[in-house]
Amino acid sequence: MSTILISLENVSLNYIENSFAGLSEINLSIEKGDFISVVGESGSGKSTLLKIIYGLLAPDSGEVLFKGRHLEGPHEKLIPGHDSMKMLSQDFNLNIYARVYENIESLLSNEDLKGKKQKAADMMALLRIEHLANKKIVELSGGEQQRVALARAIITEPEVLLLDEPFSQLDALLKAQFRTDLKNLSDQLGITIILVSHDPLDGLTLANKMIILKEGKLIESGSPEYIYANPSHIYTAKLLGNAFVLSAAEAKVLGMKTKMNSVMIYPEWVQLKSGWSSKTYVVKEIFFKGFYEDLLLERNGIELIAINMKPGSYKKGDRVQVILNNYLEF
Ligand code: ADP
Ligand code: MG
Repeated sequence: MSTILISLENVSLNYIENSFAGLSEINLSIEKGDFISVVGESGSGKSTLLKIIYGLLAPDSGEVLFKGRHLEGPHEKLIPGHDSMKMLSQDFNLNIYARVYENIESLLSNEDLKGKKQKAADMMALLRIEHLANKKIVELSGGEQQRVALARAIITEPEVLLLDEPFSQLDALLKAQFRTDLKNLSDQLGITIILVSHDPLDGLTLANKMIILKEGKLIESGSPEYIYANPSHIYTAKLLGNAFVLSAAEAKVLGMKTKMNSVMIYPEWVQLKSGWSSKTYVVKEIFFKGFYEDLLLERNGIELIAINMKPGSYKKGDRVQVILNNYLEF
């Protein structure tokens, strides 16, 4: 059974007069336990959407409902921000001269001191920072601080955790760890998470529902698997994957039939076969990616990218045969 926790009904907000910047006519339902990922280019309205859900901004029109009740905006409340939600943004808001456990415990009441200690310990264990409990925040690395901030955000058991580009300061290794942390929070605590990230991989990996924003509009939503494989917009395909777009004329040269304006191909749809044939391409560039490489292929002046899972097996100038396993028309 699904329970709608948050719903947005025709929510619009325009920051400036006589021109558009903000959000327009957003409709969205978020269920309890959902892990929602908000994806869109810079300026598409992601942070605005989060602030409206949290109650930091009030929409010009439309309404946000929390458990079916009107969510109060900043003008209707003494302290903006919804009590059942926590928002974690890039600045962690930690007391940098206090110790880790103090930062985490300070949000709990003193009524039950033993319970308070226990809860902080549980939270530190969940986020693997027990060994840092007595360190001061200034002594921690960026990734460790991030985990403390996350522990602080969830210690009061919010029903909803809002994250605005939380990975932006982390290197690849820490990012992978932080992704795992979030996945654990979602799975173990059942907390509803709304994540904005500039790296769509975060959304693809973590979310059960993805929403795509473009110029303030919600242009599509669904499971990451579905949206990735069946994007309704080229914009979405380009955001989520290494999509390659050809005009109808170019596609025709490569043997594809289309009545539409353009054709989109993900590199993994381009299958390589060695040998000669009428569909022969030349390897123009090779981009080493570690366990695979991207091959830039060319035929009759038209370029495609293919993934080669055996790095080193081709060199520039080689001729390869290509089978297009799939393409989408737009
Ligand atoms: P994102 O988080 O996707 O980068 P934002 O929600 O921050 O996008 O911003 C959406 C649009 O609204 C952008 O064009 C941005 O420049 C504009 N905007 C954001 N905040 C303000 C503001 N306080 N005043 C005026 N324009 C703003
Ligand atoms: Mg933003």
